[in-house]
Amino acid sequence: MQLFPPASCPRLIVKIGSALLVDNGGVRRDWLAGIAADIAARASAGQQVAVVSSGAIALGARRLGLAKGGRASLEDAQAAAATGQIALSQVWAEVLGAEGLTAAQMLVTLDDLEDRRRYLNASATLDRLLGLNVVPVINENDSVATAEIRFGDNDRLAARVAQAAGAQGVILLSDIDGLYDRNPALPGAVHIPLVERIDGGIEGMADRGSASGMGSGGMVSKIEAAKIACGAGVALAIASGRVDRPLSAKARHTLFVPEKRARARKAWLAGRLTAKGSIVVDAGAARALSEGKSLLAAGAVSVRGAFFRGDPVTIEGPAGPIARGLSEYDAHDAARLLGKRSEEQAAILGYAPRSALVHRDHLVML
Ligand code: GLU
Repeated sequence: MQLFPPASCPRLIVKIGSALLVDNGGVRRDWLAGIAADIAARASAGQQVAVVSSGAIALGARRLGLAKGGRASLEDAQAAAATGQIALSQVWAEVLGAEGLTAAQMLVTLDDLEDRRRYLNASATLDRLLGLNVVPVINENDSVATAEIRFGDNDRLAARVAQAAGAQGVILLSDIDGLYDRNPALPGAVHIPLVERIDGGIEGMADRGSASGMGSGGMVSKIEAAKIACGAGVALAIASGRVDRPLSAKARHTLFVPEKRARARKAWLAGRLTAKGSIVVDAGAARALSEGKSLLAAGAVSVRGAFFRGDPVTIEGPAGPIARGLSEYDAHDAARLLGKRSEEQAAILGYAPRSALVHRDHLVML
């Protein structure tokens, strides 16, 4: 799949590194205004874009006058992040607002994207925001995440967000235009435009450390991100943001080709342990599933097993198992919703219902 030119992918995650957002003078507002214009152009062409924005620590450290870019200690980094994040989201809201776009802030931790239940929450919120044509601006919740639970770099965070948002592509914008066969500062370094498989040879090319010294990224974390993305069926490009309007410039980049999406999603669900239970559905619901729709409570007839929200369940039609997916509800609540239409569900549950028993984004046909 082609990420450049842009229009080819319905949902895209753009990750922006700290060095592009912040310099000695503070926020690089003109550059940001350019990227907001790029996002607006894509939005009007029908593409849904979410931003993973770094820069909170770098910006906060400048405001607070902290040494080592705010990374001298975990406490410094967390204080810098808390200070920088509020300014960062304000700038994003302003530059996107100037283009007629609405920004929404999401701060996530590793757990939010790895724990199945919380993954479903983050995924549903992203889906709703993008469906409302809002631009989610996402960062790690650095001010509370402690060392052990931190992603630590937004490259991998962007790949996980892409998975959760059901995106088809990720662009990592930083100060480098892609992968080179050795440290790009060395003579004779050759740019790699396309990577079809990430093997030991490719991993060996990654140079350690962040060139700018501002973010915590570097090529190693970008290759890790590419592995996560490609394994989930999402294409990933590393491109330089050292130009104005980098999303419309046909700049040099490295594209990592994803594994086939259906196979990748199946592997992902299959890897999520054995099914904890099953939901039996009627013929109408079975047909709707085969057409790519979500499983609605109205078409479900019975529930078996003890499963919790986020657990994998088998979906059985009149003739046996037809699909596997992550349940949006605990078995107890799913059972109460059987055959019920969405209007009736809030009164039964006592809280606002989810849009489905199993969402199509978290479901594969067997
Ligand atoms: N979350 C960090 C920040 O906003 C950046 C992490 C990274 O450098 O990738 O400052």
